[in-house]
Amino acid sequence: MAPDREKGCAIHIYIKSRRHRAVKGFLLSNIAGIVVDKCSFFDQICVLCRASPAPGGLCPACLDMLPRHPQNRCRHCAQPMPAPGVCGHCQRHPPSFDALHVSWQFGYPLSGLIHAFKYGKRLELAGVLSRLIVPPVCEKGFKIDWIFPVPLSKERLVERGFNQSEELARALAGTMQTRFSANICWRKRNTPFQAQLERAERYRNVKDAFGVKRRLDGLDVLLVDDVATTGATLSALAEAVKKQGARRVEAWVLARA
Ligand SMILES: [Zn+2]
Ligand SMILES: [Zn+2]
Repeated sequence: MAPDREKGCAIHIYIKSRRHRAVKGFLLSNIAGIVVDKCSFFDQICVLCRASPAPGGLCPACLDMLPRHPQNRCRHCAQPMPAPGVCGHCQRHPPSFDALHVSWQFGYPLSGLIHAFKYGKRLELAGVLSRLIVPPVCEKGFKIDWIFPVPLSKERLVERGFNQSEELARALAGTMQTRFSANICWRKRNTPFQAQLERAERYRNVKDAFGVKRRLDGLDVLLVDDVATTGATLSALAEAVKKQGARRVEAWVLARA
């Protein structure tokens, strides 16, 4: 299938109305960082140790420190296990996605980078994190017709200024030469942050939180998020995507907690 990526530059900023003016200050403060990231004319130093030269944003020594996700993991939700198999949670309540692909473990120092990207509004880190993407090795027969990021609510999008999952999904779609859209799925309500919630509460918190704007009959879909913990958010979105007829839905995250 021919690539059909959405128009626009690699860094997609939302400044569409007066409601989004608050984003501008943040945008201007990040432009210098983005230019440095995009332009090989400048000598970059490593964003972690801030000492060694690092054209890609991370020096080899800091790259070596990134926590790898264990190979022994649950086939469905990628939870680390003593041996490959299906974890107890997935045996009792299988998630709505068919598989979860994980590039890294959510731990030091990657957790700090992701936190700075999302909550410190350091959009220039999008380039560094995009270069850490490890494309998924999917099950035979899973063809990935479309990549969708986990959407943010309108309120959170205005507050943050960008959707971190969308930036990663766009980069992944570019790497995989796959069709990408950030406008098919939407979040119906601004759900409370999941971090303080127990597993069952996380599932309740995001139940029916997502809508999908069109039929997806027979299509294979890959959902993208920055971090997964229990997989509750991805499962709720996968359920909505499957209700629209998708054949198989897998998910990819940069890091799993
Ligand atoms: Zn370094
Ligand atoms: Zn599992």
